[in-house]
Amino acid sequence: MRIEVAIRGGLPGLHIFGVAPSVARNTAERIRCAFQMSGIKWPYRTVVAEIGDHDPALTDLLDLPLAGCLLACLGYQVNGLQSGNGLLGRMNLSGRVQTLEEAPRHLAGAGILGYESLQCNTAEARLLLAPGAARPRPINHLNDLFAPLPPPLECDVAPPLMPASLSNILDTAVLNYSRHVWRAAVACAEARHSMLILGPPGAGKSLLAQSVYYMLPPPSEKEQSVLALQSGSEADRFHRPLRRPHHSITRTGLIGGGSPVRPGELSRSSHGMLLLDEMGEFQRQVLQALREPMESGEVHLSRGQSFVRLPFRSWVVGTSNACPCGLRGSANKRCLCTDATVESYLMRILGPLQDRMDLQLFIQDQELDVLDDLSVVEQWRCELWKAQRQSERGYYNGELPDASLEQICRFENERVELVWKEECAELSHRKRNGIRRLARTFADMSGAAWIQMEHLLEALRHAPAASSQIILQGNAKVP
Ligand SMILES: [Zn+2]
Repeated sequence: MRIEVAIRGGLPGLHIFGVAPSVARNTAERIRCAFQMSGIKWPYRTVVAEIGDHDPALTDLLDLPLAGCLLACLGYQVNGLQSGNGLLGRMNLSGRVQTLEEAPRHLAGAGILGYESLQCNTAEARLLLAPGAARPRPINHLNDLFAPLPPPLECDVAPPLMPASLSNILDTAVLNYSRHVWRAAVACAEARHSMLILGPPGAGKSLLAQSVYYMLPPPSEKEQSVLALQSGSEADRFHRPLRRPHHSITRTGLIGGGSPVRPGELSRSSHGMLLLDEMGEFQRQVLQALREPMESGEVHLSRGQSFVRLPFRSWVVGTSNACPCGLRGSANKRCLCTDATVESYLMRILGPLQDRMDLQLFIQDQELDVLDDLSVVEQWRCELWKAQRQSERGYYNGELPDASLEQICRFENERVELVWKEECAELSHRKRNGIRRLARTFADMSGAAWIQMEHLLEALRHAPAASSQIILQGNAKVP
């Protein structure tokens, strides 16, 4: 992107060209306000800014680069316009620079464009960057543009193709989950099992979903090229997408379609995460449409004569309340829903996707046995990561083809197999195999060669019948 700024005689004002008129108007107003509120004199002349090769993804982040160019044009000594250093960010009306969302992605992009550092406001204390990414330099206010350039922040660089350690990617201090929650999260992140998180508001459902996103394994070389191709930008090579459609989304918006045929959220999330927040609020037919792609790993779109097949290889995570009033599982407030209402509520959410969600997790807002030492989580991740790669399975456990289950997901003895058969007798063929894959994942996490009884029982805990039993007992402890 190239920015040119000129000041000419005429009525005072800022005119921005090269972006949509509404964007130009808003950006101009924000920059003018920020200048005035920061005590910088606005020139009593017409200012014209031309933006070339505009990238629509950066529309919101033009404030800081534009303000920098304008200040330089007014004769200020702006630090950070030297070669090798970039500027990126949106300001509020007082000139404060807002925090940059998806900072690692922008820094990776800047690195590929040849920038050594980027002045921006990054919220995360510890950033994990792709190799070759630009280093962030902190900037909090428009006035900081005159200050001497701060040193670049020290960041961790992702080792290629190995999961990064938890403390590098997550603020583990705020994550108070119990052991079984952590194990489910690791199974979802490393082995690509789809997961539904149920619980009362404030229990940390969304936080857990986001933690799973941060724990996703780094893209393999093959995935890297697909990711770059998919987004059309080399910058996204190390960046798994996170798509979080609103619950009002239409079927076409989610799956794709239209004329000409356009990909939907599903395809945009490929090799990344599709996060369905408040799943109960989605239209039933929209959730129904997820069934086929989750099963086949492809989205089929047809329009008139044309027929398109798009890949869908994503982590699917959903969150929802566990009952109509939302309080089931709350430590302080009592849920007054009857068991029958809760069951029919769960059926409504789960109905369409019942056997597609491998993990059904119920969390409470005060977990009982919070796992304090997360080094054990680290160990599970590594064991699982190693097991899936060393065995040359070529797949994530959650995606193992049915034909190879007999070979790969073997039970330790006949007793374990018998329990599996008995417990799953009433479940669909798909769900039965799903439980077997999940048990394999738990066995891998413990470094076991075959599926033992404890691994099978752990997997069964997340099956629909068992999990709704757990939810029904959800706030039995409230007096
Ligand atoms: Zn309730």
